[in-house]
Amino acid sequence: MKDSYGRTIDYLRISITDRCNLRCVYCMPAEGIPCIRHEEILTYEEIQTICEKMATLGLKHIKITGGEPLVRKECWNLIRKLKSIPSIQTVTLTTNGILLAELAEKLVQAGVDGVNISLDTLDAAEYSRITRGGDVKKVLEGLKTILSYPQVTVKVNCVLGGDGWEQNAITIAELAKKYCVHVRFIECMPTDWKQQTKLQDRVREVLESVYGPASDCEKPLGFGPSRYYQFEGFQGKIGFISAISHKFCENCNRLRLTADGKLRLCLQSKESMELKSLLRQGRDSELMDAIRTAIYRKPKEHHFEDSNIETVGMSQIGG
Ligand code: SAM
Ligand code: SF4
Repeated sequence: MKDSYGRTIDYLRISITDRCNLRCVYCMPAEGIPCIRHEEILTYEEIQTICEKMATLGLKHIKITGGEPLVRKECWNLIRKLKSIPSIQTVTLTTNGILLAELAEKLVQAGVDGVNISLDTLDAAEYSRITRGGDVKKVLEGLKTILSYPQVTVKVNCVLGGDGWEQNAITIAELAKKYCVHVRFIECMPTDWKQQTKLQDRVREVLESVYGPASDCEKPLGFGPSRYYQFEGFQGKIGFISAISHKFCENCNRLRLTADGKLRLCLQSKESMELKSLLRQGRDSELMDAIRTAIYRKPKEHHFEDSNIETVGMSQIGG
């Protein structure tokens, strides 16, 4: 289905929980965020119903996110349900990787098509500082485990910032040289806890000074807004998701479903359609109308240049 600006909307990011086993400095305050009450969280069956309805309007690709999706009980069962919807082509997952080594096999058996791992540094002390207590060894175990399933596309997402970001960029990029994994550098978006940074052009310069010139990849990888480059001798590509310095709203193809059942129209704007109450009251045709209205009302662009994410933090909308 097309929105009012002619963009095809075929991608849904679903936050299946607002809980997380980390507290990344750019995502949450140290004390965490008040949790959504259990009964307000959509069940897997409810998420499946919404996806089935959206599939009739052209939904093709689903990303499971959070909070940390792997902390929700048996999240692979949701992946299996979503994969069974005939017109859904891909179901992928974004995770911090802490629980990935132990759950990878179940996710693969359920049919996950891709796993994105958020990893900002390989330095144990720095990782612990950024995530307020996380153990980078567990993430690297998770990365190695998921790489042992060649049918799964693996990406590493890295938010750069702070002193010494250059060295972090170099060592994280090296993962794409050593392994068949695409590394994407994500510009930090402004929240109440963290100011924005505009690093894309500087990161490319730093990487080229170490790894030589990069060539532009014309063909997109996946269904998102990354711009990709190929460095010679690298198995994976290097991508950038730079919502602020290289705005990509004109090609935006996505909506976001929050853990408590709101369909958000843009990452930055709080405008959303409440789906849960319509779903729970069995008001099917109104639910379809709400989804159609959401697609139609999707804003032309974000306004991160002059405002933060409205209302809630990244962990509640899934990034
Ligand atoms: N917990 C999972 C993870 O970390 O991958 C999934 C949810 S997390 C909110 C999704 C993505 O949002 C992560 O890649 C994280 O780095 C990114 N993120 C969180 N806060 C951000 C911010 N202020 N700016 C840019 N990306 C952010
Ligand atoms: Fe948790 Fe992901 Fe947010 Fe880090 S970025 S606090 S892992 S939800």
